[in-house]
Order: sequence, then structure tokens, then C-alpha cells
Amino acid sequence: MRYAHYVSGAFRSDGDPFPVTDPTSGRSAGTAPAASEALVDSAVTAAREALHGPWGATGTEERARVLHRIADGIEARFAEFAEAEAADTGRPREFAETVDVPRAIRNFRAYADLLTGRPERAYTTPATGGGSGDGGVLNYAVRRPLGVVAVIAPWNLPLLLMSWKVAPALAAGNAVVAKPSEETPGTATLLAEVVDAAGLPPGVFNLVHGHGQGGAGEFLTSHPGVDGIAFTGASATGTAIMRAAADHLTPVSFELGGKNAALVFADADLDAAVAGTARSSFTHSGQICLCTERVYVQRPVFEEFVAALGRKAAALGGYGPMISAAHRSKVLSYYRLAVEEGATVVSGGGVPRFGDGRDEGFYVEPTVLTGLPQTARTVREEIFGPVCHVAPFDTEEEAVRLANDSPYGLAATVWTKDLSRAHRVAPRVEAGVVWVNCWNVRDLRTPFGGVKASGIGREGGEHSLDFFSEPVNVCVGI
Ligand code: NAD
Repeated sequence: MRYAHYVSGAFRSDGDPFPVTDPTSGRSAGTAPAASEALVDSAVTAAREALHGPWGATGTEERARVLHRIADGIEARFAEFAEAEAADTGRPREFAETVDVPRAIRNFRAYADLLTGRPERAYTTPATGGGSGDGGVLNYAVRRPLGVVAVIAPWNLPLLLMSWKVAPALAAGNAVVAKPSEETPGTATLLAEVVDAAGLPPGVFNLVHGHGQGGAGEFLTSHPGVDGIAFTGASATGTAIMRAAADHLTPVSFELGGKNAALVFADADLDAAVAGTARSSFTHSGQICLCTERVYVQRPVFEEFVAALGRKAAALGGYGPMISAAHRSKVLSYYRLAVEEGATVVSGGGVPRFGDGRDEGFYVEPTVLTGLPQTARTVREEIFGPVCHVAPFDTEEEAVRLANDSPYGLAATVWTKDLSRAHRVAPRVEAGVVWVNCWNVRDLRTPFGGVKASGIGREGGEHSLDFFSEPVNVCVGI
């Protein structure tokens, strides 16, 4: 796998090499170059120059064509992207083929279509005698790109989440400097190759590799030439980036961590709730920000639910590893902590043995816990692994209170057949997205983001275009 920076239309591999590891086997997958502060500075400068060149004058139709060309380019190299995404993350290749790569293609196409259908606004104001002329004034608002935007992506859905930001940023006419996670530099490099082949002017899209704190991420987010930062990652990193951004009052859009709740009412279709919670807790081994880690089940069906979910977890096969040895250690430390805190381990709780090369990889068992108080660290802190804690509740009021008793507020799931209850409960749950009787179904036009420690701002459809551009009011005396 080739890992390279892409700056001002040229691929480069300068910078101290850092190791990239295959999480399925623990073996080396090569090295990637870490961008120096000077290289990040050249990327920001190249992006600024691109805005002063022809890119700054492109219209929406031309930018939409560019986005479709990028989507075509990913489509043409679909198998390579799927292989690289599976290699980067260790997830089953089928997941990359059915989720990551198709969604990256859709991200570019969706913003191309949205862009050309977007209305501009005009307002007429009658004459007021305030020097506006006999005919009053005509106001209109035009949207102008932010300028140079930094895109910082995490390792858990590397291609999907990076393209989810790069597509609207380019659609809105910005120039981009993107940094993938140091754990997953593969598909980002392929994306740069596709952008290069799509014929974008040099500097419109730049890619730098490296670490966050003390590395390319920090160089980028503290750079005075960056006009906006779109970041997905951990909440603590969001705090660090916001501190860096504060020096230059750089606007931020943050998609951060979660400790997502599922509420299962006694009137729910229990089979669907169990299957849905198994999916929401264990998909991609729990390494999706939207995964459920707290499950609250109404008391009459609590025992039955726990037993069924435990059986599902124990029967799971074909799952992927944790992204790294360090992340596996973190997840296992929570498995130990849960027991110290007094949890009952219903299923899992350790490291699986496969009897093959995967035993050197970074796998952990899908785990179901019960018996902890709401104050336990295991119930409050994001673990980001295939684990959930199940606790009982009695009343609807209590269910809402428990769901909201968290510093996070990214996503929640409500399982009930009672329509009125669903509509009563959903808006009261403090989360950016609440699913009822389903999980992780995404329409790309809908607002996406978190409340509390789970994020700032919304992405998705118009909401991303709103972040990546600023309305300017032009007022003409007529
Ligand atoms: P992370 O915060 O450790 O890293 C994310 C990115 O930020 C990486 O590219 C990293 O190099 C960079 N970074 C780290 N420190 C930085 C700094 N000081 N300055 C600039 N950049 C810095 O997150 P991760 O471990 O890669 O991803 C997992 C986290 O992301 C989880 O908390 C998960 O919930 C969250 N996440 C949230 C969403 C969402 O949509 N809300 C989606 C996916 C992941």
C-alpha cells in the first residue's frame, strides 16, 4: 500500500516515517510519512493560492461536474478502495464493499446534486426614506465559501467520514487540506489519486498524513491560514482543537464521541429489539460513533431481553478487530473495570481464540454486562468497543431520565410499538438523532450531529453546505 501526501497537485513522501499496522494480524502494513509543520504550511498556502486562481471563480455547475468526476473515479477503482479500507481498518471486506465505498461515492454525488438545486434568497424592502432611493432596496444573500478548510478524520469510518466533509467543502467552493487518522492512511491516499485524475487545479485538495497532537493535526488546526475546521473524533480531541482554533477565532464543526442509549419498552417487538440492539452494539465491533453502549429495558421483559442478547453476542462470528493494540488495551481495561465495579458478565468479557493468525490481531469478544449503577465509569465513559451494559427501568419518565443522564448526546434508539409513546419519548431524549424501531438508517439530507459533549453544529445535506459557506447580504438601493 502506498501512503503519500498530496500537496499543490504533487504526491510527496517526505517526513519522518511512522508505522502502520494490520489490526487483523498485528503485522506491519508499512510506514507512512508524517508531515512536518513546513509541509502543512505549504498545503495551506497551496490551498489559499488555489482560491485565488480559477477554482475561486468556478460556478456551481462546474463544481458539481467535478464532484461527479471524483465519484466516477472512486467507482472505477471500487475494488482497490474496498481492499484498502478493509486493510486500513481490519473490518470484513464485505462491510467496505457494501457500506464505506458506496457511501463515499454517494457523498460526492449527493452534494453535486444538492449544489445545483440550491435556491438563493432575495428580499425586497419598500422605500423608507432612509436614503434607499425611490424604490426602496433589494436585498439578496449570496453564499461565499469559508476559504481554506481543514478536514480531520478519525480511523473508524475513514473514507466515509472524510468524503462526508470533503464533498460539501468542495461543493461550497472551498480549498481543502485533509488529514486522515494516523491509523488509517490508505484510502485517503487513494482519494487523493482520484482527485488528481479528476483534474482539479493544484491546491484545491491537499492531503497530509501524521499524528494529531504535536503532529500534522495540530499544525493544521492551529494554522492562522485555516478558515474553518471540520473534525470528527473524540470529545477530548475536540476540546484541544477548539483551544487551538480559539487563537484565530476559526469556526469549527465537530462530530464527537457518544455513549448512546437504547430504550426498550415492554410493548416492543422483542425479537426486533434484541436483533436491533445486537446490531447497534456490535456492528464494526462497536467502533461506530452511533453504536449503543447503554441499554435500558423495561422490567417485565428485562430478564428475557438480557438472556436473548447474551445468546446473540455469544453466537456472533466474522467480526473485525479493534483498530490497534492500544485501543484493544483500552477496551479490555474497561472489561476489567466493569468487573471491579461489580458487573455481571452475561457474555464475552475477554479475548477470543481463533487458532489462526487472528490470535495475533487485536480482537476482543462482544460483551454484554448487567448489574452496574448509573454512576459506574463503565456506564458513563465511551468505550468504543463491542460492549453494552443493560439495566432495567420501570416507567417512561425514568427511561428518559436515564437516557439523558450522560455527558454525551449523539444518538439514541427507542424500541416500542406504541406510536404515541414513540413520539412522546423521541423529542425528549437529549441526542442529535433518535431512531425508533430501527438503527443507523441514514438519509444523507437529514441533519446529523450531537448535543452536549457529542458535537457542535450539524452536518448532512444543506447543513454541511451551511457550515462550509457564509451568507453575504448585498443591499441595493433601487
Ligand atoms: P481521535 O480524536 O483520537 O482522532 C481523530 C483525528 O484527530 C485523527 O486524525 C487524529 O490524528 C486527530 N487529532 C488527534 N489529536 C489532535 C489534535 N490535538 N489536534 C488536531 N488533530 C488531532 O479519534 P479517533 O480515536 O480517531 O476516533 C474515535 C472517536 O471518534 C470516538 O470518540 C468516536 O465516538 C468519535 N467519532 C465520532 C463520530 C461522530 O459522527 N460524532 C464519528 C466517528 C467517530
